[in-house]
Amino acid sequence: MDEVIRINENTWRFEDAGVRFLLLCGTEKAALVDTGRNTPDARKVAEGLTELPLVLVNTHADPDHISGNAAFDSFYMSPAEEENYRAHGGSGRLLPVREGDVIDLGGRTLRVIDIPGHTPGSIALLDEDARVLIGGDSVQDGTVFMFGPHRDMARYIGSLEHLSLYEGLFDEVWAMHGSFPVKPELIPKLLEGAREIRDGRASGTPVEVHGKTVCLYRFPYAGFYCDPE
Ligand SMILES: [Zn+2]
Repeated sequence: MDEVIRINENTWRFEDAGVRFLLLCGTEKAALVDTGRNTPDARKVAEGLTELPLVLVNTHADPDHISGNAAFDSFYMSPAEEENYRAHGGSGRLLPVREGDVIDLGGRTLRVIDIPGHTPGSIALLDEDARVLIGGDSVQDGTVFMFGPHRDMARYIGSLEHLSLYEGLFDEVWAMHGSFPVKPELIPKLLEGAREIRDGRASGTPVEVHGKTVCLYRFPYAGFYCDPE
């Protein structure tokens, strides 16, 4: 892991080789949100920062978000993500969370919002009191991975539309890649870009990612890696 940054008195972010994960403390419990790309001791790191009982929540199960999951017997995740999780060697017991569920940390609640598309069981978390939306990989100003078997652009578009229900309830978005933080105004821009790609109105460039040729759509505010046209 590269860097531990304290965001405020009860919140930290961890920068881990191009990906980010978070520690959120309430009064009763603390939540680690994802465990990074290259931090098998994420649990130990978190327990060095808080004495509160620690729970794990995963925004999704791509390999760059679960490197420290093995240290937990159980974790909160969308059940729609379990197949992706196990395919990446994920262990432990999945505690299912779905749209509308609330993870209560004591004086700090995380409301679960289903945002499938980037992966089948991607979730966002609305930190209601802090007025922050934790967007996982789906709301970010880096490059959103949308190529390969378990991505679904139509569902991604539906998820961004769905997030408009929560408009006005958050002032910042915390993404797991790209800038930190980003503004909520990024969401309609990503939606417009995704629709342009879907409708064939955007032009992409072939690039190599992880040994595969994919199509990069680069917009001023973010990019998307998609299957080749
Ligand atoms: Zn990621």
